Amino acid sequence: MPALALRPAARWLARLALMAPATLLFGAAPARFEFSQAHMGTLFRIVLYAEDQSAAERASGAAFARIAALDAALSDYRDGSELMALCRQAGGPAVRVSQDLFRVLAEAQAMARRSGGAFDVTVGPVVRLWRRARRTGQWPDAPRLAEARARIGYRELALDRRTRSVRLAKPGMLLDLGGIAKGFAAAEALAVLEGFGIRSALVAGGGDIVVSEAPPGAAGWRIAIAPLNRNGTPPPRLLLRNAAVSTSGDAEQAVEIGGVRYSHIIDPRTGRAVVGRSSVTVVAPAGALADALATAASVLGPRRGLRLVDATPGAAALFLQASGAHVRVYPSKRWNAIVTPAD
Ligand code: AMP
Ligand code: MG
Repeated sequence: MPALALRPAARWLARLALMAPATLLFGAAPARFEFSQAHMGTLFRIVLYAEDQSAAERASGAAFARIAALDAALSDYRDGSELMALCRQAGGPAVRVSQDLFRVLAEAQAMARRSGGAFDVTVGPVVRLWRRARRTGQWPDAPRLAEARARIGYRELALDRRTRSVRLAKPGMLLDLGGIAKGFAAAEALAVLEGFGIRSALVAGGGDIVVSEAPPGAAGWRIAIAPLNRNGTPPPRLLLRNAAVSTSGDAEQAVEIGGVRYSHIIDPRTGRAVVGRSSVTVVAPAGALADALATAASVLGPRRGLRLVDATPGAAALFLQASGAHVRVYPSKRWNAIVTPAD
């Protein structure tokens, strides 16, 4: 037998001696685990603290399954989704829908009213034209834009809470939940993790992030806001717990036609894509709220957008707007109070 090999009992004693006293008293400290999966056309990332790998895998697996189920119900890219089945009934009778779809639509309609229609999930027909414009680099032609605009309007979307049903008043209406579904799904996934006893976790679906309690020994989750200009001064990093943070902007999805930059975010009141380089980061108490508010503020611009944020309990925002090489920074009233800079 080699000199250094220990017999099992001796090996166990040696391991015991190496453990920190706190570990012996309270059990192992939770360890950090990270997982990612593609859903809703983006990468969802889960970071969580759990006792061991198998607990982490069970919890994250269930959370991703919840996101996948929401994607299947809420997607406007899938003909088989519950959302598209509802759209096929546009102009017809009210349709009873799932609790998930009803909850997202109720949140969306609340934001539509509060933003005076700047946020509007009935914007689908116009979004489709601008998606094509992004592929072809051609401005959507005027008659088609006018025809698509005639099929949008949040007032034509009626919800009946008693029967949990939805009616789309005009034929050809098309809903697009792209501005709210990721924040909603991230929050639902976080709730699943909580159900598995995970107290400290982060769920990110692209730019829509929700966090629960701070990681062990930390004051919060560090979250970086992407800068507008690659070589400009980076915006602050945030330190958050039990909060949602969403960033909307044209960083990834924009098209330039005739020297003008058009965003993937549309002003439903004009049918035009938002122009210029800007991004809005919203911190709010809930995922769907942060997501919808960030999209609404992108449409409204810094002055009216931040007024809407200031009027939303518990919300704060930072609006970045590029003019030439310069980036203007507009904080909302609560920004400094709510947000603890991480550095
Ligand atoms: P977000 O990245 O959360 O700002 O969402 C942008 C997505 O929301 C777009 O890709 C569209 O699918 C959809 N959208 C665009 N404009 C609006 C709008 N004014 N209101 C609601 N959803 C919109
Ligand atoms: Mg959004």
